[in-house]
Amino acid sequence: MPSISESGSRRILGRLKETMAEPAEGQVRLNNVVRLIAAEMGTDVCSVYLFRDEETLELCATEGLNQEAVHQTRMRLGEGLVGRVAKHTKPVNTANAPAERGFRYMPETGEEIFSAFLGVPIQRLGERMGVLVVQSKEARAYSEDDIYALEVVAMVLAEMAELGAFVGEGAALAAPHQAPNMLRGGVAQEGTALGHVFLHEPRVVVTNPFADDADAESARLRAAIDALRISVDEMLSDASGGDGDHMQVLEAYRMFANSKGWLRRMEQDIARGLSAEAAVEKEQSAARARMQQVTDAYLRERLSDLDDLSNRLLRLLTGQGADTGVEMPDDPILIARNIGPGELLSYGRVLRGIILEEGSVGSHATIVARALAIPLVIHAQGITANALSGDEVIVDGEQGIVHLRPEDSVRKAFQDKVAMAAKAQERYASIRRVPASTVEGPTIGLHMNAGLMADLPSLPSSGAEGVGLFRTELQFLIRNQMPRRRELADIYKRVMDAAAGRPVVFRTLDIGSDKVLPFMKPTEEPNPALGWRAIRVGLDRKGVLRMQLQALLRAAEGRPLSVMFPFIAQFDEFKEARQHLLDMVARQEQQGEVLPSELRIGAMLETPSLAYAPRQFYEMADFISIGGNDLKQFFFAADRENERVRRRYDTLNVSFLTFLEQIVARCAETDTPLSFCGEDAGRPLEAACFAAIGLRSLSMRPASIGPVKHLLRKTNLKELAATIDAARESGAQSVRPAVKAWFAAQGLTV
Ligand code: PEP
Ligand code: MG
Repeated sequence: MPSISESGSRRILGRLKETMAEPAEGQVRLNNVVRLIAAEMGTDVCSVYLFRDEETLELCATEGLNQEAVHQTRMRLGEGLVGRVAKHTKPVNTANAPAERGFRYMPETGEEIFSAFLGVPIQRLGERMGVLVVQSKEARAYSEDDIYALEVVAMVLAEMAELGAFVGEGAALAAPHQAPNMLRGGVAQEGTALGHVFLHEPRVVVTNPFADDADAESARLRAAIDALRISVDEMLSDASGGDGDHMQVLEAYRMFANSKGWLRRMEQDIARGLSAEAAVEKEQSAARARMQQVTDAYLRERLSDLDDLSNRLLRLLTGQGADTGVEMPDDPILIARNIGPGELLSYGRVLRGIILEEGSVGSHATIVARALAIPLVIHAQGITANALSGDEVIVDGEQGIVHLRPEDSVRKAFQDKVAMAAKAQERYASIRRVPASTVEGPTIGLHMNAGLMADLPSLPSSGAEGVGLFRTELQFLIRNQMPRRRELADIYKRVMDAAAGRPVVFRTLDIGSDKVLPFMKPTEEPNPALGWRAIRVGLDRKGVLRMQLQALLRAAEGRPLSVMFPFIAQFDEFKEARQHLLDMVARQEQQGEVLPSELRIGAMLETPSLAYAPRQFYEMADFISIGGNDLKQFFFAADRENERVRRRYDTLNVSFLTFLEQIVARCAETDTPLSFCGEDAGRPLEAACFAAIGLRSLSMRPASIGPVKHLLRKTNLKELAATIDAARESGAQSVRPAVKAWFAAQGLTV
């Protein structure tokens, strides 16, 4: 049996094009397609299997197998030869299928009489859609040319499916971007959002996968590649002398843009009847499939460079620019493979939610999303290939789940949830200006956490008394080089201006661990959370710390200034850091600059060791703020970034509460003002318990102020303290159930 030549391939595609142009139902079309391929390739069987769900393939059309098996025969991913093709997104070619490892005999299809088997994946840009199979009775080995020809046909089928050519009865025939889809990822920032897809990099739509004139297509491709090479060279000369990583990426771009192999493969695709765009996509799909298989980080990065370059080439060919055509919806949910912190900041608060295919809990983008309080789900595999601009989507940042094109019932449930939250926010607005006074008890000071200039406008509307924690590292993280003192002073001044007399507590640079500055050489550490971070870096790199302290002193312009040092583990560290600040004050005075009217120097208590520091530490500190996120992770030895353990221990565990009580007592002995600024301060139940054990100041996200204040104003702290004590006495592990029941008895659900 002769194999399929280039002209044979072109003929198949030509006939496929005619078949597709005929008006017909999706199923009829698919039947016509398999009949045509079997006839043109001279095989006894041609079948199409499509994914019914992520794990199951279904026989959707066949020529040669029993027709009764259509829509009946199913197999799981990895099962049988078809399942193997789908799982590894690689062709399987064998002259003797029944003898092949993993062959699964399906009697309903009648396939036992067929010996030769060739299956290729139907995929589009790394998204698996199904498997295209040809089989023959004769024990023949299909040639490389046959494999190639079938891959080209599979590519066209994927494109046609994408355009909705096979839509009809039966969900398996639906265009892949129409069905509801639920994806599981990881939580990076909690919160729920409903909105519409806004793709960071819009997909290029290939409307015609067929080449009418191979020579003309080839010329188009070459012209586009020339333009691409010129633009890469320009990027390289613009960036020369820039940072190493960026140059490395551009060098890789240049290497691919000049790669003869890449161009040759695409030209072969065109010679077999694909349009230039379809040829680029075919190679891009193959690269993406490889990307999913390789584990070597360097290779993955290079494949991802090739992917970026292919996108550029597609844009050149189709004229669809990154910024053309697609308008941002009113309620945008940003979807991207990954995104840098600067890019995310430039979108800013307009985003309702963010879904990333990659990302990590400690990435800069995550830090920015947290600072902006935008719900973020990471590791949502397949989201960029699945989502289309404008699709409806729900981000469930509590569970780490994404509902793409949700069913009505799912949408309704989330709408209710969001509406309830909005109603509650309205209720909170009415208590914005009143203090958080508890029932027959003290008033609790509520402050907000911030980290960006953009946070400040929400200060008056949040009902916060001031900023209890200003995380200064964001200004460093979003830059490519060390910010200058003048720049920093200007930012801090604007923060104080925007706070309009309300107190702001600036925390000095807290980097290391998960927060790595882009312009500092990352240090390989076995356990970064316990490593060289925060004040440890500050004390070892005094220049940066002193520069920041100077910027803060200047920014104050004679106003009161509060500075706190993060991650103080022992008294000496505080003394040393404090001395740097006092030195800078002295220098400022010498230079005749105005000094802050009042200077308060505090420490963050984030390691259990500091709770047991000498009394003199408590006397020296003007205030102490408990960094509960870190303190809790070290208290329970449970990584705050590790999804498997981070929710394992309850903040209201009696051990932790008792420990916090001891800190409260030590501060009371020396009259040292104490506050709590970890995430838990923003959870109403936790906040009420903290108040009950004696904390009088809490700092939290702006959106949490309302709910916390609402509950505190209804809480009798003495009674709550008695409830906590009783639960503790009873031997309970956590006081949560007792406290919840106590609130519920008063008609308060928390
Ligand atoms: C904390 O650890 O509780 C804290 C507020 O600091 P960060 O979350 O920035 O580490
Ligand atoms: Mg911390």
